[in-house]
Amino acid sequence: MIDYNDLGPEKLIEIYDPKLDLHGYVVVDNTKLGPAKGGLRMTSTVSLDEVAGLARAMTYKCAIAELPFGGGKSGIKADLKSITKEEKLELVKAFSKALKNLVPKEYIAGPDVATGEEEMAVFVEVNGSPKAATGKPQSMKGLPHELGSTGIGVAWATLVACQHVKLNIAGATVAIEGFGNVGTFAASKLSQEGAKIVAVSDSTGAIYNPNGLDIQKLLDVKKKTGSVTKYQDCEILEGGRIFELAVDILIPAALGDVITNVNADKVLAKIVIEAANLPVSHDAEEKLAKKGILVVPDIVANAGGVISSYAEYMGYNKEKMFELVKSKITKNTQLILEKSKKSGTTSRISALNLARERLGIKAR
Ligand code: NAD
Repeated sequence: MIDYNDLGPEKLIEIYDPKLDLHGYVVVDNTKLGPAKGGLRMTSTVSLDEVAGLARAMTYKCAIAELPFGGGKSGIKADLKSITKEEKLELVKAFSKALKNLVPKEYIAGPDVATGEEEMAVFVEVNGSPKAATGKPQSMKGLPHELGSTGIGVAWATLVACQHVKLNIAGATVAIEGFGNVGTFAASKLSQEGAKIVAVSDSTGAIYNPNGLDIQKLLDVKKKTGSVTKYQDCEILEGGRIFELAVDILIPAALGDVITNVNADKVLAKIVIEAANLPVSHDAEEKLAKKGILVVPDIVANAGGVISSYAEYMGYNKEKMFELVKSKITKNTQLILEKSKKSGTTSRISALNLARERLGIKAR
């Protein structure tokens, strides 16, 4: 269901072309702070409701990160298993063409599920403006998400959360659900900081070694075999068990709604960092907070991607982008955790109120 309120959405657009079998959506949720920014996803199930929910999250995320962007999102409905790569790019081309009046003044695209630098290159070529999309290839002066801005930002949020509860990162145990773009960069950075990554999972299963996993070796295994379960020297767990391990830090970095009322009581971690979008349901977040578990919500923890988008938009190089990711994520995680402690509300409510404050709208 679309949440119509004082923020938006401002525009709900549906693009349909039966000749090309193109069915897509764009939602411009709120442009108070600037053009609506948000990724383009391609899945067989994407809907206007889903795009609108994600666009709202972008409104909050950009406001918290103090970026001159509003919130937006787009989606193309496509069963990528049944079309070729060329057909996929044709859909992106036609979709981009249909948005010529909107881009980049009101909406700026970026990579999301099943889209990356190649699709962003198409988006920019069709619209004739380098500002039409971020996450472009480096050859187009882009800063692709493949550089790892989101995962590195997640690691910075984790370091702040550790300081907040006086947990030393050196030797702290970590479990990470998802070993893709976000999970791998978060794992590498936290391991460099001295954390012990004891469990990770991907779509093929979860692995666990209480003495710690060698992240470089694991990256090689994942690259060669496509599965973390091919790593030697570990126990294989049933996927869902990763959320119930007795670790210091739990990082869901793959799917939405993986911690809900059903399993929130079984979470034993001291800190949960929401790297994926909405990995913990709102009622489960409240349950975790009541149990004394510190949660850093997604709209704060995974903002590294959109901060990198802003850096690209401004023409910064990757060094400056990584500095910006560090300073913004560190500052805002600290701020939200302190506000939450002072007010006794959950970190999500503190984050939403901070976003509303920065949007010049009354707190709820
Ligand atoms: P990705 O496609 O690179 O990786 C996803 C990982 O999740 C893969 O390792 C996949 O095997 C794993 N996975 C799939 N099903 C799983 C399951 N049932 N159990 C465990 N693991 C499973 O995606 P990503 O870019 O790393 O994004 C991860 C999450 O972070 C998504 O929710 C995404 O929306 C969110 N996010 C990503 C970015 C970004 O910049 N990449 C920014 C903000 C939010």
